[in-house]
Amino acid sequence: MNVLVVGGAGYIGSHCVRQLILAGHRPAVLDNLVFGHRAAVGPEVPFHRVDLGDEEAVGRVLDAERPDVVMHFAAFAYVGESVTDPLKYYFNNSVATLHLLRAMLRRGIRRFVFSSTCATYGVPQGLPIVEGMPQSPINPYGQTKLDVENALKALSKAHGLSFAAFRYFNAAGASPEGGIGEDHAPETHLIPLAIAAAVGQGPPLKLFGTDYPTPDGTCLRDYVHVDDLSRAHFAVFEALATPGASLFYNLGTGIPTSVREVLAAVERATGRPVPVVEGPRREGDPPALYADASKARTELGWQPEYEEIAPIVETAWKWHRDHPHGFADR
Ligand code: UDP
Repeated sequence: MNVLVVGGAGYIGSHCVRQLILAGHRPAVLDNLVFGHRAAVGPEVPFHRVDLGDEEAVGRVLDAERPDVVMHFAAFAYVGESVTDPLKYYFNNSVATLHLLRAMLRRGIRRFVFSSTCATYGVPQGLPIVEGMPQSPINPYGQTKLDVENALKALSKAHGLSFAAFRYFNAAGASPEGGIGEDHAPETHLIPLAIAAAVGQGPPLKLFGTDYPTPDGTCLRDYVHVDDLSRAHFAVFEALATPGASLFYNLGTGIPTSVREVLAAVERATGRPVPVVEGPRREGDPPALYADASKARTELGWQPEYEEIAPIVETAWKWHRDHPHGFADR
């Protein structure tokens, strides 16, 4: 398939580009490089530096690439910032996506894969989380993703758009052979911060909350390897051949892992202790979030290759060890 990967220079997008190539597809990338890294995409992949808000420029890229499918990873994803600057999130995540969808539909491109999030569930009604549970985001970031999900449903009915929205749990790790990995500025995610703390490249890890009603008092999350996430994005291609397909899938391993268990895995991988400062809870963090991903497994035949936290953290550590300054080292 010819695939336009919007946000293909970002963390998950760049891993998906690599997996698409390995699976025999032909990706091209559209990215404004606000958060993405040019070096995260190989020189053999057509690259368009374009902002999604510029619908005419997006249209020119669609005309040039004639994609069979558009995958959309480009979004701002800092929950705290979405609370303090919601307009930035509504324009960049919701409005910009509508520009992309209008440009596609005007050209008769009707297959779309969307990066959604478990943050659309808010505080879940039950665990593990199944797709049919009520969605009630507790921050603007989750709301913008849910807004797009709802727009997709309407476009599917009105115009026969076929789409899959993947609700990611905690994307983690790095492509073991790919020379790509997680490089956010600022970094807010647990695993890269814990690795930086362990090797003395960052401050001690602030542990957000030790009094949760969980076995060790710290939050439970569902860490899923970024290559496994990526593979789901083309496992759905066959289902997208049906006009008007309207598909939602959780992507997680289903295994709850506590913050302390992640820190122990980082200590094992790096061979060093993680200096920790225990602090209060971070606002907006539910005690536990983990997926029932059986729908993706049953309908798409999707099977994560990584299930345990240890090998996931090892791939993150390998990327960090070989590229201590991220893409600046490439
Ligand atoms: N966390 C932490 N210290 C940090 C960053 C994260 O204790 O510096 C915890 C956070 O409270 C959550 C888990 O680690 O329970 C995963 O957080 P992350 O920001 O990586 O992903 P999120 O779950 O927010 O998408």
